[in-house]
Amino acid sequence: MSQILPPLQERLQGKEPYGAPQIDVPVRLNTNESPFALSDALVADIATAVAAAARGANRYPDRDATLLREHLAGYLAETTGVTLPVSSLWAANGSNEVLQQLLMAFAGPGRTVLGFEPSYSMHRTLVEATGATYEAIDRGPDFGISLDDALAAIERVEPSVIFLCTPNNPTGGSLDPETVLAIHDATDALIVLDEAYVEFSHTPSLLPLIESRPRLVVSRTMSKAFGLAGARVGYLAADRRVIEAVLLTRLPYHLSSITQAVALAALEHRASLLAGVEAVKVQRDRIVATLRDRGVNVADSDANFVLFRTPGSDGHEVWQRLLDRGVLIRDVGLGGHLRVTAGTEQETTRFLDALEEVMGDTLGGTGQ
Ligand code: PMP
Repeated sequence: MSQILPPLQERLQGKEPYGAPQIDVPVRLNTNESPFALSDALVADIATAVAAAARGANRYPDRDATLLREHLAGYLAETTGVTLPVSSLWAANGSNEVLQQLLMAFAGPGRTVLGFEPSYSMHRTLVEATGATYEAIDRGPDFGISLDDALAAIERVEPSVIFLCTPNNPTGGSLDPETVLAIHDATDALIVLDEAYVEFSHTPSLLPLIESRPRLVVSRTMSKAFGLAGARVGYLAADRRVIEAVLLTRLPYHLSSITQAVALAALEHRASLLAGVEAVKVQRDRIVATLRDRGVNVADSDANFVLFRTPGSDGHEVWQRLLDRGVLIRDVGLGGHLRVTAGTEQETTRFLDALEEVMGDTLGGTGQ
């Protein structure tokens, strides 16, 4: 027998796996997590809930995660005023899995998915893994979406799915409802509003738009505002027929009873968890204001991160020199730009001080 592996599928050959660096440094501001550890009260409730789930772990979990979906519906009703039945909610291991399940149902070989870049890099990766073609439209210098470009692209590629990330990662801006509706009305595609960062936004969630628009769906996560990235919980709000389609692609029992228990406990504590959002927004606004004061070009941000320009450098050198000072931020591969997550007040100060040193050294000033 040959020791050589069979050939990798053509569409995976030469690809790199997703790999934001996980480096153990004092200030980690590179993956848009919450900087706050869970409270002792929540940790205790999680421990109790996990113990109960562990006792029943000889059985498979509720494969439809019904209780969790009920509680997610409660959270959405409370924060957006939109009351959805459980049949319009879905939950999975992070919103990455939600997106993957949606794409397995609605993308795939012979189909095209439209995105507006720069955006979250996993959109393309997940699309291509299903065998579909990913068509990226350039957002242009202000990182907004030009409706004319979007409508022309829809006509040209006839997408099956369109990704609209709002607030957009890594650029931070939000879409207005008029643009979303104009795109919706110009296509038969499924439109995925990726609202991973919506709790940090100045503008309200676009969730109300999904009512009576079955092709418009909203993907959310507990990884960011809820500070629960380690638990891997994402969710989807959509017409029940979309959820039924997703059920065809999910693995049986995909969401463990332990994960469901942790998510339910965290939802009980949502008031205190979401209080951290306000503190993060203060640091985000501080980063924007401080960098602008120093003459750095900064994109407006509705999220928990900020994209800024590193004039006179491709950005990577600045990234490395910040890392040398114990501050890890993100090189998102956009020449001349870096993205920093808003942290605690202390972490943000460490970042701002380190950047001042580095940009002063590298550029002999921070002008444009
Ligand atoms: N969407 C966007 C825009 C993101 O930035 C991320 C994570 N960085 C995700 C989805 C996936 O997050 P998770 O799987 O943790 O929910």
